[in-house]
Amino acid sequence: MSQEPNCIFCKIAAGQIPSKKVFEDEDLIVFHDIAPWAPVHLLIVPKAHIVSHADLTDAHAALAGKMMVLAPKLMRELGVTGGFRTVINTGRDGGQEVMHLHMHVMGGPRPWAKG
Ligand code: 5GP
Ligand code: ZN
Repeated sequence: MSQEPNCIFCKIAAGQIPSKKVFEDEDLIVFHDIAPWAPVHLLIVPKAHIVSHADLTDAHAALAGKMMVLAPKLMRELGVTGGFRTVINTGRDGGQEVMHLHMHVMGGPRPWAKG
């Protein structure tokens, strides 16, 4: 598994930094975002250090599919019944701050909704 020594999500995946983990297998780790934008805000993170969505190739198709399929499963398990939003920020212009691929999954009553 390729890891970057200074990468925060590699450190979380390696258990060197604590997180509120909700799922882990050989390929992925999922934990609650430290600064949630929604009542339930998960980050689905490959354990391998892949910088961004723009770095995915055909070789990552199964991994990317696994991330996509896991999102609704975890939301169901966490009792989110009213829907959720998935976001992948990619690169500087995409607003990506942590340069290790992650999918945001945000659910629960919408605190950002107007009125
Ligand atoms: P980005 O802008 O890169 O898509 O999102 C990065 C996300 O990672 C942000 O929502 C931020 O709150 C979250 N984050 C950054 N550092 C940590 C951390 O150490 N632990 C956890 N759980 N989340 C983090
Ligand atoms: Zn990393």
